[in-house]
Amino acid sequence: MKYFKRQEEPEFLQQNAARWNQQWAALKSRNPGATFNWYQYKGQPVNQLLLPFLKLQSQNHCAYCDAFPLQIGDDTIDHFCPKSVPDYFMEAYSWRNLYCACNHCQTAKMESFSTDLLRPDAPDYSFERYFLYNYASHEIEVNPNASLTDQNKAETTIRIFQFNYPERTNHLKKACLGALDKTICTGERT
Ligand SMILES: [Zn+2]
Repeated sequence: MKYFKRQEEPEFLQQNAARWNQQWAALKSRNPGATFNWYQYKGQPVNQLLLPFLKLQSQNHCAYCDAFPLQIGDDTIDHFCPKSVPDYFMEAYSWRNLYCACNHCQTAKMESFSTDLLRPDAPDYSFERYFLYNYASHEIEVNPNASLTDQNKAETTIRIFQFNYPERTNHLKKACLGALDKTICTGERT
């Protein structure tokens, strides 16, 4: 999970998010079983309009596991705080709540949410503060030098997003074996 700076909210969202949030919250309050369908703006679903902004923001990486490049069909919009939980009904169309995510991360997270979950665009976030990259196993680990609070946040984030899924680590292993400097990848010093 790499840090990125949250870009400015697209104008059409700035103008409509508050109204759309209210509409969604009203619908869910009336009918808790209501399913979420993105509203339309000028004849186009809002998610289709938002995706290019979100992909640009995380430079075509999954905002969480860094999968790159995101293929068409593997580029979803994740609601960081789940839109189906009453506390977060009003976050369904909030710019700061929306991230571009791969199918793996979207499925792993589903409606799971913890206030310990880390956001890649938090101003005080950096990968090194919370995590370590294990160059031998290609897994993401908790930084043992982080404070206990930060270690808990890192552990929760790895667990909820299931960062160390086999497709990801195997892909990185292969990429690494093809790299020129193999010593970097194996962690061995010559
Ligand atoms: Zn991902």
